[in-house]
This record gives sequence, structure tokens and C-alpha cells, in this order.
Amino acid sequence: MSKTSKKSSKKKSPTGKHKFVFSFGSSKVEGKGTQKDLLGGKGANLHEMTLLELPVPSGFTLSTEVCSWFYENQKTYPSTLKKQVQTAIARLEKEMGKKFGDNNDPLLVSVRSGAPVSMPGMMDTVLNLGLNDKTVQGLIKQSGDARFSYDSYRRFVSMYADVVLGIHSSYFESVLEEMKANKGCEQDTELSADDLAELVLEFKNIILSEGKIFPEDPMDQLWGAISAVFNSWMNPRAITYRQLNNISSVYGTAVNIQAMVFGNMGNDCSTGVAFTRDPSSGERKFFGEYLINAQGEDVVAGVRTPMPINKESCLENSQYTSKDSMEFLMPKAYKKLVTLYKKLEKHYCDMQDIEFTVEKGRLFLLQTRSGKRTAQAALRIAVDMVKERLISKKDALLRVQPEQLDQLLHPCLDPDFKKEVIAKGLPASPGASVGQVVFDPDTAQEWAEDLGRKVVLVRVETSPEDIHGMSCSEGILTTRGGMTSHAAVVARGMGRCCVSGCGSIAVNYEKKEFIADGVTIKEGDYITIDGSSGDVILGKVPVKPASVDGTFAKLMSWADAVRKLKIRTNADNAEDSKLARSFGAEGIGLCRTEHMFFDVDRIDAVREMILSSTYEGRLSALDKILPMQREDFKKIFQAMNGLPVTVRLLDPPLHEFVPQKDDELKKLAEKMSVSFGELKRKVEELHEFNPMLGHRGCRLGISFPEIYRTQVRAIIEAVCELKMNDAMVIKPEIMIPLVGDWRELKIVGDICRKEASDVIEEYSRQTGKKLKIQYSVGTMIELPRAALTAGEIAKYGEFFSFGTNDLTQTTYGLSRDDSGKFLKDYIENNIYENDPFAKLDQSGVGLLLDFAVKQGRKTRPDLKLGICGEHGGEPSSVEFCHKLGLDYVSCSPYRVPIARLAAAQAALKFDEVKGVRSRVKKTKDKKKKVIKRTSKRARRKNT
Ligand code: PEP
Ligand code: MG
Repeated sequence: MSKTSKKSSKKKSPTGKHKFVFSFGSSKVEGKGTQKDLLGGKGANLHEMTLLELPVPSGFTLSTEVCSWFYENQKTYPSTLKKQVQTAIARLEKEMGKKFGDNNDPLLVSVRSGAPVSMPGMMDTVLNLGLNDKTVQGLIKQSGDARFSYDSYRRFVSMYADVVLGIHSSYFESVLEEMKANKGCEQDTELSADDLAELVLEFKNIILSEGKIFPEDPMDQLWGAISAVFNSWMNPRAITYRQLNNISSVYGTAVNIQAMVFGNMGNDCSTGVAFTRDPSSGERKFFGEYLINAQGEDVVAGVRTPMPINKESCLENSQYTSKDSMEFLMPKAYKKLVTLYKKLEKHYCDMQDIEFTVEKGRLFLLQTRSGKRTAQAALRIAVDMVKERLISKKDALLRVQPEQLDQLLHPCLDPDFKKEVIAKGLPASPGASVGQVVFDPDTAQEWAEDLGRKVVLVRVETSPEDIHGMSCSEGILTTRGGMTSHAAVVARGMGRCCVSGCGSIAVNYEKKEFIADGVTIKEGDYITIDGSSGDVILGKVPVKPASVDGTFAKLMSWADAVRKLKIRTNADNAEDSKLARSFGAEGIGLCRTEHMFFDVDRIDAVREMILSSTYEGRLSALDKILPMQREDFKKIFQAMNGLPVTVRLLDPPLHEFVPQKDDELKKLAEKMSVSFGELKRKVEELHEFNPMLGHRGCRLGISFPEIYRTQVRAIIEAVCELKMNDAMVIKPEIMIPLVGDWRELKIVGDICRKEASDVIEEYSRQTGKKLKIQYSVGTMIELPRAALTAGEIAKYGEFFSFGTNDLTQTTYGLSRDDSGKFLKDYIENNIYENDPFAKLDQSGVGLLLDFAVKQGRKTRPDLKLGICGEHGGEPSSVEFCHKLGLDYVSCSPYRVPIARLAAAQAALKFDEVKGVRSRVKKTKDKKKKVIKRTSKRARRKNT
């Protein structure tokens, strides 16, 4: 919600004239498309589509301000709201020529949620509201169709009971299934009017047996539904969805009340969902699904497997052909839909997700919104729309969410592996996943989070309540539901691989098993699913890393052209360095040398060095380590081919390298020719109560300068040797960790510089020519004291790299290793908005960065600044680093593309970037003119 609108809801007294209800219809449109904060995304688009004179059923919107009021005032409403709703109902009655609650010709409405940011399926909806034992007779009279009328009534009663009265829909579903079985019907549509009337009675009895009452008065029904929608803003699945998608909970939802149109009035009626481009691949093809004689919820919930709307939407593994399509069976309505989708896409300059209903051959649009899409589709659509001159490059860059790129870099199945395909479903969300089968979301969460297992969630169909289990599963497999089912939409949004509508497998929840192709798969068995082909495969299939296509390269090249931050990687071997370069890394920002120490061929030498009691003993062990480290550095420098490489000297406490178990210690004692007892004593001496705050980082360099000297020697020797054979320019950056006082950096820095110049001199002497090696010495800023005294520290180092992992740990006093246990409680209690180790805490830790940047640059204007903590690949933290004016961010190889795009977006948002004017802005201006014209027309009509 915009600040101003939020303020006004608080300030205005309930008796004031503040407007909370906004009507839309042929006689009046009180809102517009730009008012998403106030009217919610769905509401704003309904108003906008009405302004564009598209066929939208009339209605009105209760603004998000009502939702804020509701939560700020113990779930009550502003006193003027009732009157405003009554006025809006009266206006709607006039437009529709029907009366709400009229026994002769009742006006029926839908009540739907609609937040500013779309949250598909997370909140509640009630359809066919206004029906009761009397009004249903009016509906029969007007429609001449008792079957349809009772079908609508039984749907309404069960939906109302579920959403408003809190009685789970499964009670009603099982009665419905029983009735179908008794009557020998396969589909709901085969039930007669009498059967459906009987269902209404049975449903009402269930409600009574649960101690609840179904309200017969339509006004009571309406207020019940409105409250249920507002309450659903805070239901657990909506909260989880907001957390997963970083959606603020401040906004609240709007409520849209609209005259009903019916897709369930017979075989000349239908309802469906369509995407103006393929939401999986991004291909420019009109893609969608529909159901004849059905209501919208049937498509979204995957109750019946929907049919393709056209030839392009026919899928290889589907039971349907083009003969079942809307294009074939309802050509007139389909043609109209095509005209409208083109108009909508052009108007919004984005791929749209459209909900429609055909009532007796007449097409109505119920919703349009920017469609959720896979990363692959997001890229393709953005790049194609630039080619089509619909949007600018700037718009394209801002359209793709950096985090989404992660999906592209996910693995796919090894094509050469012989697979045992046991079933085929619909390829609902691409990627491949291997995991142990689980059948319910709670087990999925428990196995994944507590036991660290990889799971594939297998369900008949998913519902929004399953979101916690879906989010921690590797993949999702459903037996029902199409490409627009809940499972498909949510999985795509999350970047989870999903196969839906896999009707050939039989799931038995009770036995915790499913049968496919005669094979029984039990809970815990491994399967593999391929979300790109729809294959369900027995056992584990090896996966290959993803490869990206030309659209990725194109968008990345646009990003590179505008970003100011350089993107480096955290890598400590040649393979990762090459991988990161292939993703666009422009250097190494952090090479953790301790990872090299753990290699099997050198760990013994490292242990010997650590456990030696004498200087000489340490030196002799270090002599063994030196050539190995030199070779490591040579490989890394070669892989980076002249790009900058920051090498951090040894950081962790030494005890991390020595064995803790007696049997391993015994073996080591033998190797070192010392007694077990002596070695054990030495290991005990290394024990620390708080190793993270103990003898680590530059403190090791102060106590054992020979360790750092050896490391610097290895770095510089590697450079000299490469330089002798090749003209390669290598400028290593030697980084000293955990500095908290300028004297530490001065002392250790001097040791490093002295060793480096000794090596250069030795090599110059050997080769007989003066070698010129450029290197720099700098420090990590990872302690609050380092940040606070950065001005002094900058005198002794040429660069700072913010180690925000440790800086977060030490600023919060929060252990990196132990906080996982209770961080969840902090987030649930809204103490921390996010995990501060994942997302940089800009208001606390960020202040230290800001201060250190300013003080450091004051001392040394050309101080090079970067970040190498995990935050370096997290988009909001990258944006913050851009604002601070850092030179680079450094992150793990797979996050390099994410950081490249996030850096470009930051530049576009906060800087004047030349040559990337927004075409959308121009289109918006054009749009405004159209809206002005249409509103004038509407006003004229009105007068
Ligand atoms: C840091 O502290 O942010 C850092 C990069 O160092 P490490 O994670 O190795 O402690
Ligand atoms: Mg650190």
C-alpha cells in the first residue's frame, strides 16, 4: 500500500467520507489499472479491462485499506463500509437488471481476493453467492435449467462451508463421490437435478452436524464471505507464500465482488485459463486449458483434467487431441478469445494469464494478470518482446527476477543413461529431480529439513495447504491436474521440477505407495522425474548440469552493458574457476586457501606442521606444502587467464585440520614418529571454547608468521613461473583475514610484502632479468572493530573485502554454525525479517559497511572495495553493494549470473543509464490517453 493511502485509512474517522468501495461496470468505472496497491492486482485489472470496454462482468472492489483497517481494529470494519457496499450492490443490481436475494430473478455474485502482488490460489474465493432455498427457484425459473441451478447451489454450499465456516471440503467431496458411485456416474455433470438437490440437503446436514449454520440471508452470506477473504490474508499458506516470494505482509488484500457468469450452464458453456505465451518455454504461442460445463475452480484445482484450448496446447502425453479443443468445439468463442488476448498483451506489454468463462456461447474475461513463468520462459519472453518492439532492453532486464536464473542452471537428466520410464505425465515445470518418494507435505518437510533427505512429493493433486511440503521437495508429481493446476503454477513459480496429470499411476495414501506400470513404489523408494518431458522413472538417474541458450547470453550481455559492479567468484580450484568464468565471473574475489589444505595428498603435511612443537619442525612440514600450493595457484591463475585473483591466507583455527578420534590420531602418530600420548596432548592444547573468536585469521599469522610466509611464497612463485613462460599478466591480491586492529595488518602485511619481494628478487636473479610482478596486499573487513576503525586500517592495505558472513556473526553475536536451530523462531516471531546470513542486514551490518567504505576511501581514495560473504550473490544485497559504491561482489559460481543481473537492475534503478530508455513508459503514456478517452465515453453514456 502506498504510504499516503495507508495514512488516510488510519486518519479518517469511520464516519468520514473516505472511499473504500470502487465500482466497475458499463455505467461507471471508479478505479484504474495503476491502482494495484489500493485495489489489488486483480481489482485494478478488472477496472482497467472495463475501461478498455472488454467483456468483464460488472462488480465492485473493497480496497486493501479495508484489509488494513480490519487487522488494525480487531477484525472490524470502518462504519461507513456497510453503506458503501449497499450503494455498490444497488448500482450492480441496476446494471444487471436483477436483485440480490430476489426469489424471482436473483443476482448472484462471486467474492474473490486480490492482493497487490499476485498470490495464485493462496487466498479464498466464494462463487454463486446469493443462493438459498428460495433464490434457487428463481434461478431455475430464469435459466430454465434445474440441473444447472442445483449444481451451482451445491457448489456454493460446499464452498461457503469450507471457506467461511471452516469445514474441510473433503467432507463434501466424499459425499459427492459416494453419490456418483451410487448412481454409476463418472463425472459430476452426469448427476441429475434431483441428485444435486439431494446433495445440497446432505451438505447442509454436514454443516449442522459440525455445529455451524449455513446462512440463508444473502447479505449475511456476503459479509461472511468478505470476512473470510480478509481472514485468508493471514492463513498459513498465504504467509508461507509471502515468505517464499519475499512479498511484504503490509499490503493486505482487496476483495472483488462481481456478478456471476456461468460456465456450468450446459455444453455451450465453459471455463478456462490461458497464457498469451507458453509459460514453460516462453514460446510465442497461445496456450491454455478449458473445461466444458464447469466452473473456474474445476480448472485451477485440477478436479477434472482440463482440455487444450487449441492445437498448440495439445501435449504429447495428454489424453486429449485437437478435436477436444475449444478452437474446434467452440470456434466462435475461441476466435473472440484470440482477439482479446492479443489486445491484452499489447496493452500490458507482458505475457498475460487470463481466466475466462463462456456462458451460452458468450465470452467473459474474469481476470488478467502478468503470468507466472519459468526462468527459461521469463528470459525468452523478455528477449522476444524487445525484438517485437513491445518493451525496451531496460524493461527486459527489470522483468526477469535474478533469483529465477537459478532454475536455468539446474541439472537435467543424463540423456545417455538407460531409463526405466514407468509413467508419463504432463511436463508442468522443467528440470529434473531425483529423490525419495513421500506422500504428504509434512513428511516431505520433516525428511528434507530434519533428516537432510532429498524427496519427491507424490500427490493425487496439490492444494495451497501443501506449500510447505512442496517448497522443500526436489520435485512434485501429481496424478491429476493440468498445466495450470495449483501444483504446476506453484512449482513453476518456485523453480521446482513438476510432472502433473500423471493419470496412469494409482496413489494409495493409506498404504503410502503408488503403482505405476505394475511396479509398486513405496514411501522412501527413489524415483526420478523429468519436468521437461513428463517422464516418471524408476530409481535414480544421473543428472547433468544445465546448459543455457542464446536468450540467456543475450540478456546477460545487456546486463553487462549497464552494470557498474564487477562480478567475481569465490573459488579455490581450477574447475570451479573455469565454471565461474563460463558464467561470466570477472575474477576471483575469494580463494579460501584452507580448502587446498584438506586435499588427501597434503593433509598429513598440514597436520605435521600444526602439531610440530618446534619452529624447525613446522618449517620442514611447510616445505612439503609449498610446492603443492604453488601448483594449485598456477592452475587457478591459468584458469583465470589474467583476471584478478584474491587469495586469502589461512583463516580457520588449526584444530579443524587435526583428527579428533583416537584411532585416527594413532595412525598419525605412527606416521609422524611421535607417541600417541604426546600427539593427544598437543591436540587437546589446540582445543578452544569459542574457536570462531579464537586463534584464527591473522592471529595465526602473528603467532606463526612462517605459515603466511610460505603461502605468500607459493603465490608469488606461481606468478613468477607462469610469467617466465608466458606473457600472462597476473596481479594477485593477497588478503589477510580477521583483522580487527591496524597494527595486525601493518605487521602481517609487512611480512607478506617482504616475502613477496624476496621471491621476486630470487626469480630475477635466477633468470637474469628484473621481473616486474604487481601484487597488492589488503584485508577482509569482517569484525565490527575493523569497520569502525577502517580509516586507520586503510593506511596499511590496498583493498578491503567485506567478509559479511563473519561480520554478520560478530555484529549480531549470532553463531553461524548454531543459529540455524533458532533462527526459524526469530523469523516466525517477526524479530528478524530474514535470515541475516542469507540477506544482508542493511539497517545494522549495512551501517558498518557504509561507515567503513566512507572512512576507508577518505584515507585512500583508490581503495578497492568488494564483498565476498555469501551475500555477494543475493540480489537485495547486491543492490545494496551497488548503492555503497563497491567495486565488485564475489559469490559462488552458480550465483554469478544472478549477481550480474542484480547488479544491472541496481544500476537501472538507481543510476542514469544512457541508451536504455523505457519503451513501457511510452506505452503507458499512450495507455493513459486511451483510458482518458474511454472514461470520457463512459461518463457520456452515464449522463
Ligand atoms: C566471511 O566471513 O564473510 C568470509 C567470506 O569468510 P569465511 O566465510 O571463510 O569465514
Ligand atoms: Mg570470514
